[in-house]
Amino acid sequence: MSGKEHAVRAAAHSSQLDVAHRQAVAAAVAGLQDPALAEIRLTGPGVGSLADAAVSSATPFLRAPLLAKMSAVAALHPAAGNADGFCGTCRIPAPCPTAEALQW
Ligand SMILES: [Zn+2]
Repeated sequence: MSGKEHAVRAAAHSSQLDVAHRQAVAAAVAGLQDPALAEIRLTGPGVGSLADAAVSSATPFLRAPLLAKMSAVAALHPAAGNADGFCGTCRIPAPCPTAEALQW
């Protein structure tokens, strides 16, 4: 992968994370304002900031298990393949589709 391709993929990945963060904050705002919470329901101009803080502090804990699994998958499907140039798991020339999906 060229440097330009890597930069394009990194930008797309960053954009996806931004979208995911905004969606998570919107969901948190809705949850904090849920009428079902009755007297502990939050309202007012600070709800968005509280939701953003909650999502920002929780995100690393949510990502850690996913990143650990992605690392395990990458070890099973090395982009460069084994010494013979084949993916040891898929037994096809590297990079296999799984290794390509993990590239960013
Ligand atoms: Zn593979």
